[in-house]
Amino acid sequence: MTTTPTPATTPDYIVIGAGSAGSVLARRLTDSRASTVLLIEAGADERPDKIRDPASWASLIGSEYDWGFHTEAQHGLDDRVLVYPRGRVVGGSSSVNGVVHIRGRRSDFDDWAEHGARNWSYDDIEPFMDRSEHLDEDALDTGGVHVSRPFPLSPIAGAVLDAMSEDDRVEEVGMHTMSVLGMERSSAADGYLTPAVRERPALTLLPDATVTRLVIEDGTCVGVEVTVDSERRVLRAGREVLLAAGAIGSPHLLMVSGIGPAAQLESFGIPVLVDAPDVGENLQDHPRGGVTVAVETPTDYVGEGVSGLLSVGATDVQLLFTGVPQYPDTMAGPERGFTLTVSPMHPTSRGTVRLTGPEIADEPAIDPALLATPEDLAVMVEGIRIARQLIAKADLDEWEIRESLPGPSVVDDADLATYARQVTQSYYHAVGTCRLGSDERSVVDEDLRVRGVDGLRVVDASVMPSLVSANPNPTVYTIAERAASMILAAAHDSALRA
Ligand SMILES: Cc1cc2nc3c(=O)[nH]c(=O)nc-3n(C[C@H](O)[C@H](O)[C@H](O)COP(=O)(O)OP(=O)(O)OC[C@H]3O[C@@H](n4cnc5c(N)ncnc54)[C@H](O)[C@@H]3O)c2cc1C
Repeated sequence: MTTTPTPATTPDYIVIGAGSAGSVLARRLTDSRASTVLLIEAGADERPDKIRDPASWASLIGSEYDWGFHTEAQHGLDDRVLVYPRGRVVGGSSSVNGVVHIRGRRSDFDDWAEHGARNWSYDDIEPFMDRSEHLDEDALDTGGVHVSRPFPLSPIAGAVLDAMSEDDRVEEVGMHTMSVLGMERSSAADGYLTPAVRERPALTLLPDATVTRLVIEDGTCVGVEVTVDSERRVLRAGREVLLAAGAIGSPHLLMVSGIGPAAQLESFGIPVLVDAPDVGENLQDHPRGGVTVAVETPTDYVGEGVSGLLSVGATDVQLLFTGVPQYPDTMAGPERGFTLTVSPMHPTSRGTVRLTGPEIADEPAIDPALLATPEDLAVMVEGIRIARQLIAKADLDEWEIRESLPGPSVVDDADLATYARQVTQSYYHAVGTCRLGSDERSVVDEDLRVRGVDGLRVVDASVMPSLVSANPNPTVYTIAERAASMILAAAHDSALRA
């Protein structure tokens, strides 16, 4: 691997963003040595202890490895402004995330296919899901993140697990997997950009380099404008540019490059190349609330990794046990205890990523619209109510426990709704802002090609038409594995035609 690409070596593909999806693409497109890749990442190529240690994930929020975004005031959450972390480092958000690794359900993908993402049903994508994860350390060389159940079940987590298992309303109860190898994070960078892959002459990684614009000539994306060491350069791609900058970065780059809603672009003086009204629309995120219990007696809190899916009306609600309390810092709560997190998996609210200026350096306005609809609020309230019942049923008599949040005085529907608005945060699961579909308004087609421009695909969380009933990172890997296979097949076909 080289770290300073020269103009003399035009890569076949430029991949923008070495995050979850970009790392997969760079790896898979160079597996066969048939193509060359320049992988550009705004963040550093570093892996300090606080990234390696999965338990330190919350300390990475606001650090040098986070873009440090904030949301617009959230009307559904009493107008609170929330932090909105996104990884800015090789590995992207998979280097800063909570390592929960749960696959989406069959029905999630079949629903995508039914609503226009025709070749993305569960059966279509399952082989790529399998390829993106392995349980066996010896399989590391083949690429894919390592998936395990690293933490032992603590007695308290076990008691909550039993209560969930015994309740007919909760499905898929158990200890879920995490992307962890030994006791270390297994990020996209760890699983795909291994030392041997980094040695490939076909792959050039360019960290600390921010793509500021896509270069589009005569309707074809031919390269990128990038800032390295405060210097702007244009780097060209021989075949395609693959945008993998994530659910915030990808729509933002499209818009500053002239691909997006015309009126919005014009209001910032950006020449409109493609009027693509859905770029930056359809932002979806999982709201995350819960019930927090203080545990007064000293105990071993390890035991994260228990979850289940609760059906509330027609939607799934994830229940996830964490052995440390989780609540916003705007609320007073215990230092020691646990939280049964409640997260509606298919919110009806839709948010946006919008421009605030014409440059990539102008932080976008991010509105995930959490609990913006009465339906979403009602589902959260019902989820909290049931989480409470489950904790009450759990055999926790041997510990001195006390429900801290919402607390015993919060009983009726109105008070629970008030609490839900106060406690809800983002689960940091942004998707959907470059939606994939077969309709003309969708940003990318079923092969992830940007409509209206040649030579450009988007491959990351932004193409997901809707959220899945799980944390999204495994789905992002699956999308990128499938995209790499599509891109290689397209290159093969065009070589045969030539
Ligand atoms: C704090 C946090 C906790 C999370 N916890 C979990 C979890 O436990 N389980 C789970 O499944 N999901 C979790 N997620 C979500 C999951 O990590 C993301 O959905 C997933 O990593 C998104 O992958 P991506 O490839 O779309 O984007 P990313 O992984 O974010 O990659 C985008 C990359 O592009 C780079 N980039 C952006 N713009 C530019 C530019 N202009 N020039 C150059 N580079 C650029 C970024 O720096 C980044 O490295 C969490 C996310 C966060 C932020």
